[in-house]
Amino acid sequence: MTTLTIHRGTHEIGGSCVEIRTDKAKILIDLGMPLDYDKHTTEEQTQIRSDAAEWCKGVDALFLSHAHADHYGFLGLLPQDTPIYATEETFAMLALDGILGDDPTEHLEKRPLTSGQSCEVADIKVTAYIIDHSAYGACAFLIECDGKRILYSGDIRLHGVKGVLYKNLPKDVDYLLLEGTNILRAKNNPTERNIENQFVEAFNEAPDALHLVWCSAKNIDRICALFRACIRCGKTLAIDPYIANVLAAVAQLNPKIPTVTTAEQMKVYFPPHLTERLTRRNQPQYIFSLNPKQNKVSYDDFARSPEKYVMLVRPSVLAYLQRIKAHHIRLIKSIWGGYWNEPNTERFRSWVEKHCEDVKDIHSSGHADTKSLQRIVEHIRPQTIIPIHTDSPSSFGKIFSESYILYLYDNRSIEL
Ligand SMILES: [Zn+2]
Repeated sequence: MTTLTIHRGTHEIGGSCVEIRTDKAKILIDLGMPLDYDKHTTEEQTQIRSDAAEWCKGVDALFLSHAHADHYGFLGLLPQDTPIYATEETFAMLALDGILGDDPTEHLEKRPLTSGQSCEVADIKVTAYIIDHSAYGACAFLIECDGKRILYSGDIRLHGVKGVLYKNLPKDVDYLLLEGTNILRAKNNPTERNIENQFVEAFNEAPDALHLVWCSAKNIDRICALFRACIRCGKTLAIDPYIANVLAAVAQLNPKIPTVTTAEQMKVYFPPHLTERLTRRNQPQYIFSLNPKQNKVSYDDFARSPEKYVMLVRPSVLAYLQRIKAHHIRLIKSIWGGYWNEPNTERFRSWVEKHCEDVKDIHSSGHADTKSLQRIVEHIRPQTIIPIHTDSPSSFGKIFSESYILYLYDNRSIEL
């Protein structure tokens, strides 16, 4: 007998956690923190955490689809030495959390999987499939037990640079747990190539300005698109030491990724608080490995020749931005729109409103649009679709009328 429980995610984007249990084993897939966690009261937060701690009891292994906090945010609640399976790329991303804060997998037993590789937890067999998403190294999982085949899509899209990878996903599964973040919402997301062209246009529109681009450190494909746009416009991309280390770690797995020490047109700026935090917490190699003597750009460099640079920024580097004396500054938001109005970006927002002559959105979602979801289902041909990672499960019925959709509720178990 196999029991499926979606603990969270049947009517919510983010905070995903799925449990699959047989007579012999219990596995969890993802253990995310809800996206609105910070907006809850302290009592509610305590309740949310203790619910998640409850799900972790007796777990034999956790499978992590990717390095976004709405999928891994509660890993700290797993018992010491619990086996955790993820791709090597995902582990690399999470280890980098450790250079500024804590590596959430430090207390766990890491077991990397490559794409197509399977493992067994008692009578449950799980296979990982790398897919395209805005977090580097994201994967889907096929779970096989009791003669049933269950595919968990994780977060997925087809319009990214590796979008075609969905064609490797297994066909004719019994159940497809399919994410529906953008179901009936975004249509025709631009590709990363298109985003690159939009960056080029924006830089050419104001060639004398210092362009700031806000983008996630984990969206490696986007950083690469931005870097290509910089090269096309003869500009240098300036990144902070944290992102420089993220790129260096990813380049170990994929040598095509540009880094500060290998790419001529990539340099580092050193926000004092970040540099100090990095050196206080770690060995100084995180700074020295960037070869600052050769690769550092200073406040003066930005002020003297703003037209030469594009800066990759985050709200946390505000103090550094405040010290740059440049007249024409522009911001491009290359990130999910919701982050702009978060309470912790308020100071950054008001600085931007005062000091930036132009603010643009150049972004493409990390999630499949309606047509892409249909293509995924056409490829997989599941017997049953189970909506997950969506705030509109009923929309699945509108686009998959011929398929059988099973609507679940959080924490209610079903036998498969
Ligand atoms: Zn994600």
